[in-house]
Amino acid sequence: MPALTPTDWTDLARLAPVAEPGEERVVATVTTAPRGVEGEGFPVRRAFAGLPLAALDPFVHMDQMGEVDYAPGEPKGTPWHPHRGFETVTYMIDGTFQHQDSHGGGGLITNGSTQWMTAGRGILHIETPPAALVESGGLFHGVQLWVNLPARDKMVPPAYQSLEAEDVALVASPDATALVRVVAGTVGPHRGPGSTHTPMTMAHVTLTPGGRLDLPWDPDFNALVYVLAGQGSVGSERRPVAAGQLVSFGRGRWLRLSAETSAGGPDGPLEALVLGGRPIGEPVEHYGPFVMNTRAEIAQALEDYRRGRLGVIPPGALMPHVPHPSRERDA
Ligand code: MN
Repeated sequence: MPALTPTDWTDLARLAPVAEPGEERVVATVTTAPRGVEGEGFPVRRAFAGLPLAALDPFVHMDQMGEVDYAPGEPKGTPWHPHRGFETVTYMIDGTFQHQDSHGGGGLITNGSTQWMTAGRGILHIETPPAALVESGGLFHGVQLWVNLPARDKMVPPAYQSLEAEDVALVASPDATALVRVVAGTVGPHRGPGSTHTPMTMAHVTLTPGGRLDLPWDPDFNALVYVLAGQGSVGSERRPVAAGQLVSFGRGRWLRLSAETSAGGPDGPLEALVLGGRPIGEPVEHYGPFVMNTRAEIAQALEDYRRGRLGVIPPGALMPHVPHPSRERDA
């Protein structure tokens, strides 16, 4: 689990202990993400499946990509495709995604870095493993989160933030059993590098086995915890959770995560993404790669895409890498 993981957490800034037991957020729901495939066939878990949009607001959709250890020739991505009306946030924990878009942008997202892409009024892009990774195979693990835009910002010009791993704000729990990487928004007084259109927080937590984290959380935000790996429990009620499960919390000022130790021996760390934001509170029409407020706006997006108004694939564009045939097949 590379992400950005310093060897010694005791040097880091520490969260203050949370004080008021009566202000803890209680667990509302625990759902299990079904498995699916995305793009040209890479394995995902649909993290938000089963929760109504109102509980997710300001988020719309999230895929956990992998974790998968590809054999040579297996890594896959997406073909060129459009977006309008929201933001795609791609956080790579292990491995590398290469991207290119119709506005001349492009680059690598790798090991702990985040691409925060505002599709706004429209963009075409491709997300694919680099050729060398397709040839070699290897670990691939990340998430793609869709963040909605309020009506006033749906047609803003497209934009990127490349949030490098070393720019993420690192904070430890009071006893240093938990590491919190703040990608966007704030956790207590600690602010991550991502800039957002509406108030929200995105953090990646690693909890050592036996560790516990009481995380301060803005009372105006919803609170979602998605378990990326390992197992543990949530809330003072110690509700068990494991990899691939999403927890939605009720209202309050802080939430609790614990990592279990089992009788069978030392478990790995609990890895979780913690997300929340102030609900936008507007109607959501989600159709394929478009997230708008009304069906008429979806129809307009489809028409604009057909007419090339969301962008065109640039000449000499990056395309999905086709692996070279093996020597055995050549012979
Ligand atoms: Mn996309």
